[in-house]
Amino acid sequence: MKVKEVMANLEAKHPGESEYLEAVEEVLNSIEEVYNQHPEFEKAKIVERLVEPDRIFTFRVTWIDDKGQVQNNIGYRVQYNAALGAYKGGLRFHPKVNVSMLKFLGFEQIFKNSLTNLPLGGGKGGADFDPTGKSDAEIMRFCQAFMYEMWRNIGPDQDSPAGDVGVGGREIGYMYGAYKKLAREHSTGALTGKSYGWGGSLIRPEATGFGAMYYVERMVKEQNDTMKGKKVALSGFGNVAWGAAIKAVELGAKVVAISGPDGVCEIKNGITKEMIDYMLDMRASNHNKVQEMADKFPTKATFTAGKKSWSVKCDIACPSAFQNEMDENDAKELIKNGVKYVAEISNMGCQPGAIAAIQKAKIPFAPGKAVNAGGVATSGLEICQNAGHINWTAEEVDAKLHKIMNDIYDMCVEYGKQKDGTINYVNGANIAGFMRVAKAMLAQGII
Ligand code: GLU
Repeated sequence: MKVKEVMANLEAKHPGESEYLEAVEEVLNSIEEVYNQHPEFEKAKIVERLVEPDRIFTFRVTWIDDKGQVQNNIGYRVQYNAALGAYKGGLRFHPKVNVSMLKFLGFEQIFKNSLTNLPLGGGKGGADFDPTGKSDAEIMRFCQAFMYEMWRNIGPDQDSPAGDVGVGGREIGYMYGAYKKLAREHSTGALTGKSYGWGGSLIRPEATGFGAMYYVERMVKEQNDTMKGKKVALSGFGNVAWGAAIKAVELGAKVVAISGPDGVCEIKNGITKEMIDYMLDMRASNHNKVQEMADKFPTKATFTAGKKSWSVKCDIACPSAFQNEMDENDAKELIKNGVKYVAEISNMGCQPGAIAAIQKAKIPFAPGKAVNAGGVATSGLEICQNAGHINWTAEEVDAKLHKIMNDIYDMCVEYGKQKDGTINYVNGANIAGFMRVAKAMLAQGII
């Protein structure tokens, strides 16, 4: 396999799908050497099969807003690869959603899900719907309209969507309600991220952030360093940043920045419990403005319009909002300010130029597909509980999540250790994730 040839072919077939092409290229660069040591991979054309989704559904979603106006959106589900299990991955509601974005996210999901060591295939979906400023009733009507089309293609053994940007517990509840009515069965494993009490798992809301901090803790320990007193900069103030903030504080670190599309909130003395709780209200309001944190806690948080979290001095930087949110200049500013670790919690949160700058400065960098895998892993645990009609305690789920993250970390080290003893976490995650999928595809024949 020659990465250049595969990429030239893909670019010709999918012109303009830049995010998807970028994600594929990163993985292929990591696996090229290992792949070429396995002639059986080449013979079975594993890469050529892996880069194309099994299928993509595109559908019109029509709903009525509070003013009685008819609204149209486009919905998607990319069922990417089912070698390891039924398709699994989130739904993103955001005005920028398009096929390229969902193909990139679906592709990443294959490797992330593989890293969890659970039986999960890769998929992703969503709609170009903007939840900002929408009422609760509008959100419900949109979720129901989305499900009119989606319900036939999902199920615990077929495809199990979950939340992602713009989709949290409330949206999953509305979608599950519609699914249950249309499918005429209470098949809880068809969606994850449900509320506790009707199929949801304890710790699922916190899981992405908790898992990320378990991973970061290992990165820090690897350098014989400790989390105590470390300044952590997060971006966004959504579900992921919320969970990460809780765990970071629990591990003794100080969260000094969160952000939104409007700017950054610097929290000099570290985020407090009241502030973390308030993040939930901010998300539920659909205002999408981080300034509200500084308005509510004026002595603790300072808001600066138009700035990102990467302008705040920190030891650990964790992009946790959206892809490509850290560019090369941001990375250089962080390096100048003495950042010691960078761990993506958002999928592909850093642009290639940012990653190159961080790695060149010999600062440990870990990719989203490893760091944020705790979310989908806990979704996998939710499906296990649904299938067995059992509820694990919060401690039980947290212990399993912690073990999964430790195992992912160990695999990244095993496959990412370089000759000079340093760890390339990007290569480690890509190679470890790939090997499991490739072996399953080989065993299942040419299909
Ligand atoms: N959207 C999350 C992710 O990117 C969670 C997916 C899931 O739980 O299925 O992994």
